[in-house]
Amino acid sequence: MLNYNSAAALRTFLDQEGLGMQKKFGQNFLINPKIRQTLVEALGAKSGDEVWEIGPGLGAMTALLLEKSFSVKAFEIDLGFIRVLKKLFAEENRFELIEGDVLKTWQQETPAPFLLGNLPYNVAATLLANFIEKGCVFSRMVVTVQKEVALRMTAAAGSKDYSSFSVLCASVYNTKPLMTITPSSFFPQPNVDSMGVLLEKKLPVKNGEPSEYPEYPKVFYPLVRSLFAARRKTVKNNLFSFLLSRKQVFSQGKPLTDEMTREMCTAILEENGIKENQRAENMGIDEFLSLAKTLENMRIYR
Ligand code: SAM
Repeated sequence: MLNYNSAAALRTFLDQEGLGMQKKFGQNFLINPKIRQTLVEALGAKSGDEVWEIGPGLGAMTALLLEKSFSVKAFEIDLGFIRVLKKLFAEENRFELIEGDVLKTWQQETPAPFLLGNLPYNVAATLLANFIEKGCVFSRMVVTVQKEVALRMTAAAGSKDYSSFSVLCASVYNTKPLMTITPSSFFPQPNVDSMGVLLEKKLPVKNGEPSEYPEYPKVFYPLVRSLFAARRKTVKNNLFSFLLSRKQVFSQGKPLTDEMTREMCTAILEENGIKENQRAENMGIDEFLSLAKTLENMRIYR
């Protein structure tokens, strides 16, 4: 088997296969076996469970997942790696490869309960947001991302890393940083630290019974993004821009004036007990949710 723990061995293998590393695909192999093991264990999957793997590369994590008797559906874009993966795992009937850009291919597949990925830095945040906004929620996900992205994923309201992405992740997951991964654990070495993060599907308890997270109105995610759009602006000003941008603020068939829209913002915030000079960075998920529900009820946004 290929020695996934040695940069030299991987380089030799790539040379033999006539392959190069493509920067545009964020290719950094995780050559630290202890960290690979810890990440796979954090997934909490059992033998026979199906796991989606994003970006298998040369198969370092894939081999570990298959060793644990999981069924693996792997999404890879690099044609050279695809050729190698098919060869390396030809005998594995629990291995399926989905070729192409995962941002496009995943929607044709039935989601598995688990997802693991040492995510390419250029698509990590987009892909995670894409899953959440399209309602694809995994029971457990373990992802490796740039530390700066991980801090945004796990940030609490009021902290400097809190962003629309934090709210997005917190809307359906409990997030937990697992470990910082320094550049020396990768080949080639990236310029910045990475972090392993666990995302567990939220199951808030209601009346002693486990229940799913609330159903979010369609307007929820666009509203959250918009309220964070200009961080320095108050929630009132961002809400005003949001309503204007929708061009769906009508009163008896006629567009509202700016003045009327401002008054509407004041009323919406008052109804939800949110101060006009509040900033999104200090708002909890429940406040975003109640605002979204108000907009939905007022049929301002359809
Ligand atoms: N899993 C391997 C490891 O941990 O050593 C490789 C991880 S590497 C950071 C990211 C992998 O994602 C590469 O194999 C890269 O080719 C693949 N990749 C990049 N962009 C992709 C995309 N849009 N869709 C599918 N795979 C992608």
